[in-house]
Amino acid sequence: PPSNILISACLYGLPVRYNGSEKARLQHTLRTWRDQQRLVVFCPELAAGFDTPRPPAEIQPQHGRYSVLAAGARVQEQSGADVTERYLLGAWLALEMAQANQCRFALLTDGSPSCGSQRIYDGGFRGQTLPGVGVTTELLRRHGIEVFSDRQLPALMARVVAVDRTGG
Ligand code: SF4
Repeated sequence: PPSNILISACLYGLPVRYNGSEKARLQHTLRTWRDQQRLVVFCPELAAGFDTPRPPAEIQPQHGRYSVLAAGARVQEQSGADVTERYLLGAWLALEMAQANQCRFALLTDGSPSCGSQRIYDGGFRGQTLPGVGVTTELLRRHGIEVFSDRQLPALMARVVAVDRTGG
């Protein structure tokens, strides 16, 4: 079966976080995968009904833990508005999209309370990050999808090549 790749819409449309060579490499790789019809472009937050622009939200830890699914951490806007349920909806829609399109992998924008997979913001709205994952990443990984951040493109490329060669 094809090992398709769910990709954050903002990463696909706007790979601007990169220096020149990384950006060129990212664009070349994404073009190749796109031509192979392996990319499934998705934004969990837009799917859940948020607008662009929208207020930033950060995960608020519960007893020191940032896991929404396992620890009951909440997602809040700076105003204090609790948007956890909508972030969960976006995560479930991402999972549904991934499963419906045979995505074994996901390449997601790091830092986001939805898509982060290496770092997230610490909940204080001060621009401070710490190791952690967003809600969508947490749910996808629970269901066996291999999530890579935008800084891990070489690792994802290696996994895709390995899976293509062995059939999984
Ligand atoms: Fe959407 Fe944010 Fe994920 Fe980009 S990082 S795809 S804007 S939820």
